[in-house]
Amino acid sequence: MKFAEKLTEERRRRLAAERLLQAQSAELVAVQRKLTQSTRALHREIAETRAQWETIRTENARVRSDLSVANRKFALTKQRLWQSIETITDGFALFGPDNRLIMANRAYLSIFEDLELVRPGAHCMAILELMAEEGIVNPTPLTAAEWLQMMNERLDKQDMSPVTLRLWNDEFIRSTFQRSHSGDLVNLALNITRSVHHARELKEARVQAESASRAKSAFLANMSHEIRTPMNGVVGMAQVLAETALDAEQQEHVRTIKRSGEALLVLISDVLDYSRSEALKLELRSEPFNLRRTIEDVMMLLRPLAREKNLQLLMDYHDNAPIEIVGDPWRMRQVLTNLIGNAVKFTKAGHVRVDVTGLANETGACHRLRISIEDTGIGIAAQDLERIFDEFEQVDNARNRQFDGTGLGLAISRQMVTLMGGTINVSSREGVGSCFAFELPLGGTQDSVAHREQDTGHSDTTACRQPDPLPDKTERRMQVLIAEDNKTNQLIFCKMVKDLDIDLTLAGDGQEAVARYRETRPDLVFMDISMPRVDGRDAARAIREIEGNGPRVPIIALTAHATDCDDAAIRAAGMDRMLTKPVQKADLVDAIAAARSAGIQAPASAVQDVG
Ligand code: ADP
Repeated sequence: MKFAEKLTEERRRRLAAERLLQAQSAELVAVQRKLTQSTRALHREIAETRAQWETIRTENARVRSDLSVANRKFALTKQRLWQSIETITDGFALFGPDNRLIMANRAYLSIFEDLELVRPGAHCMAILELMAEEGIVNPTPLTAAEWLQMMNERLDKQDMSPVTLRLWNDEFIRSTFQRSHSGDLVNLALNITRSVHHARELKEARVQAESASRAKSAFLANMSHEIRTPMNGVVGMAQVLAETALDAEQQEHVRTIKRSGEALLVLISDVLDYSRSEALKLELRSEPFNLRRTIEDVMMLLRPLAREKNLQLLMDYHDNAPIEIVGDPWRMRQVLTNLIGNAVKFTKAGHVRVDVTGLANETGACHRLRISIEDTGIGIAAQDLERIFDEFEQVDNARNRQFDGTGLGLAISRQMVTLMGGTINVSSREGVGSCFAFELPLGGTQDSVAHREQDTGHSDTTACRQPDPLPDKTERRMQVLIAEDNKTNQLIFCKMVKDLDIDLTLAGDGQEAVARYRETRPDLVFMDISMPRVDGRDAARAIREIEGNGPRVPIIALTAHATDCDDAAIRAAGMDRMLTKPVQKADLVDAIAAARSAGIQAPASAVQDVG
């Protein structure tokens, strides 16, 4: 090769090498630029990450600090709660849903002393078994096994009602179980020893107080008895003195002594009877006596007072009631005197009626006696009805204040009737009247009464006795029922028939008329048409229904005006004829005479009106 060619070749190579170097330098510069960029980006990233990390670290530190505060609070609360549970003197235990002990306070554990078995994890039943076996609980009257069974059953049945446990040391625990929502079983054991002992003390105190009250009553009874004897002397002598020659002023003085003495005697006998029965010293006699006569005697005694007030004192002694009974005549007289006496005392106008009825059992035999005393007096407000039978209770209102009394009469009557095995009740309407009624059991049959008569022993039962062949008649008195709501009309009726030898029964409205009809089965009924509750027509219909196909009682309608009710309406209601008010005595007497049938006494002279 020539030199020139060689040089050219050389230059070409050098130029190519220079171009390569140039290209590589440019590449290097580009790489260097990229590297610089990456390094910058990396720096930025590192800075960002560092900032984030810093935030997280700060956050972490805050959370950790919060957590430690919360932990401290929780620990404090737990400590407080536990200290509180530990402080209470009653037992507290918490069992898990599997009935195993989680925790219990000292008071709860104290009764188990050092028994290791009672620790977390112990089963509730195992603890109860331990109580029974170790004699911690006194299961009396049950045996330990029975007690355990009872507790087991309670747990099985989830019976969460409280149970009282008596411990060996005579302490009393009221144990209550309660399931929480999560199924845990909370057991509270309250120490009720003080309340149990307090209740015992109260009971003992009550027994002592009752015995002291009985002693007081016995003292009162003795004192009253002692006072009564000389007081009787004072009254008796005043009576004797009254029969001697005295001037008018002296007579008045003697009468005052007698009246005051009698009032004092009434008071003393009330106190005596009440105290006696309170002191449980009252014994009932048991002897046959004539009940009808007893009632008549009481009414006889009250007759002057009734007459003074122009009151009618009536008696309905129903055929189904025994005349003679076995019982305590004195106590019977006392109850009747209280009740009839009150009726007369609290009645200004109208009547007081004693009604004696025998009550039959399913076999039709008379087994109870009902005596009711109805008056048309001041009545008793509903709110006072409950308490008037309590001792020393009197209705306190303007109407009542004018009457004397001790407030003991009804308390005594109730005690007596209760002692006789009976019951007493009252129904009343203020301003209208009252009805006090008592029922007594009648013990035996005619034979047993005859037997009792020879028997000198005592019995507290009251027995039925039929009338003896003498108070027995071929003819009986006519029973007349008058249904009339107006008290004045009732009074007029009573006065018109008072000379007749009949038994009169009064009913204040239609409903009562039907009831009285059932009881007395009268021979004649006078029926007012317009009456409250049930009117005369409906009452007459009801009576005809009761009669069915049996004997038909004549029913005479009483109307205010002839136009009030026509004949057809009267007959449609089952009534026979009509009398127009004001009824004339002659018409009334004629109607009664016309209703007389065989076996009924002629309505002649007055007997019933003892007022
Ligand atoms: P007292 O000695 O006051 O009559 P009671 O115990 O016999 O005592 O009666 C208590 C009260 O009951 C009387 O004060 C009176 O308020 C009331 N009471 C009793 N019977 C009647 C009656 N028939 N009518 C109205 N109130 C009566």
